[in-house]
Amino acid sequence: ESRRLVRRQAEIESGAVLYPTDVPIAFENGKGATLKDVDGNLYLDFFAGIGVLNVGHANPYVTEAAVEQAERLPHTLDFPTRTRVELIETLDEIAPEGLRGRNRVNFGGPTGSDAVEATIKLAKRVTGNDGLIAFRGSFHGETSGAYSLTADTKYKRHYTPLLPEVEHARYPYPFRQDGSPEELVERALEDVQTLLGDRYGGMANPAGVWVEPIQGEGGTVVPPEGFLSGLRDLCDEYEVPLIVDEIQTGMGRTGEWWASEHYDVTPDIMPMAKALGSGFPLSGTMYDENLDAWGPGGHTGTFRGFNPAMRASIRAIEYTRHHDLLAHARELGAFIVDRLAECEAENPHVGEVRGKGLFVGLELVTDDGEPAPDLLETVRTTCYENGVLVWAGGRGDNVIRLLPPLVMTEAQAETGISILIDAIESATD
Ligand code: PMP
Repeated sequence: ESRRLVRRQAEIESGAVLYPTDVPIAFENGKGATLKDVDGNLYLDFFAGIGVLNVGHANPYVTEAAVEQAERLPHTLDFPTRTRVELIETLDEIAPEGLRGRNRVNFGGPTGSDAVEATIKLAKRVTGNDGLIAFRGSFHGETSGAYSLTADTKYKRHYTPLLPEVEHARYPYPFRQDGSPEELVERALEDVQTLLGDRYGGMANPAGVWVEPIQGEGGTVVPPEGFLSGLRDLCDEYEVPLIVDEIQTGMGRTGEWWASEHYDVTPDIMPMAKALGSGFPLSGTMYDENLDAWGPGGHTGTFRGFNPAMRASIRAIEYTRHHDLLAHARELGAFIVDRLAECEAENPHVGEVRGKGLFVGLELVTDDGEPAPDLLETVRTTCYENGVLVWAGGRGDNVIRLLPPLVMTEAQAETGISILIDAIESATD
């Protein structure tokens, strides 16, 4: 049945669909960190819809409340509902410390790209400028504004020109770049400083700096200490907003509510999506009240906060707190990294294992240490055939990415990681 559905989808759906594997899988249902396909095969889920199902698939505490809301009142435009106001209050409780008590929320459409578009408009409105500074290796979405920030040119080149004033600074990537972590941070900050402040090499009208606190699609790249805080200082010095994209890293994924908290940095503007609605489409942007420059109607639209998704979001936050999933993400993440470190030590094709919390990447390399995308394909296929769903990314398409639901148990992680290690061993024998 999976085979039939995959074939049928390919016949009738847009060719733009990204089906990541040759292994035919069509899902029937999910529970916690597991998925079942239409033929009854069970899978351990290590990507959670790219970090969306943080409190697990079809968590009844979330879905029952969302269904109740859908039956009672799904859509109200921007008219307040108790659910909407309660979510804004709840988000304030978990906001990065420097924003708590002074943060504003703008709800977007369903996708992360919607939220990123909002951040571009807000930064332009606040500064009156139009120059965007982002980073090499970044991913911020595929609508026109967000695509301008995204560094990957593979598809982007078909749609240029996008926004006219965009520059990409170097992002510190210790595994792939020469130099000590301090030197890499220094170089990245130098690029940004030049763009912000050098009359003869910079940008005429910078509107802000957009950064992923840990790059996701770029290959789970964890920047060294000093990078995010250095950006914070530069943005303060040149009076432009720092926009920290927590779309993939947020909502507890890295073991803190927001990855910027690992670096003690408060963003000015913070787009959120993915896990925000716990599987129900919802995005939003949190920002400091001083930057509330839009004015009535300044950034609206029909679907700006879907009440069932907002109810789901409140419930997912409650569930995360009640079960202390942030601590669990830190512990289980450390367990996974430790298990994979054994493989890193023994197998020269495992270049590096890195991550924070349950945001883990494993970089596969050739004998010469170059990216090994073919090896990744083999490993991923074996994993899928053996019931372990992993994700992939990286500038060289060679990073296995693990983003399981935060509710995954240690026993499930152990089973999945052993299957992954076996897959790597058999592909590199
Ligand atoms: N920002 C980041 C950091 C992301 O990882 C993504 C999605 N991978 C986006 C923005 C775009 O989100 P969406 O795919 O929902 O438009």
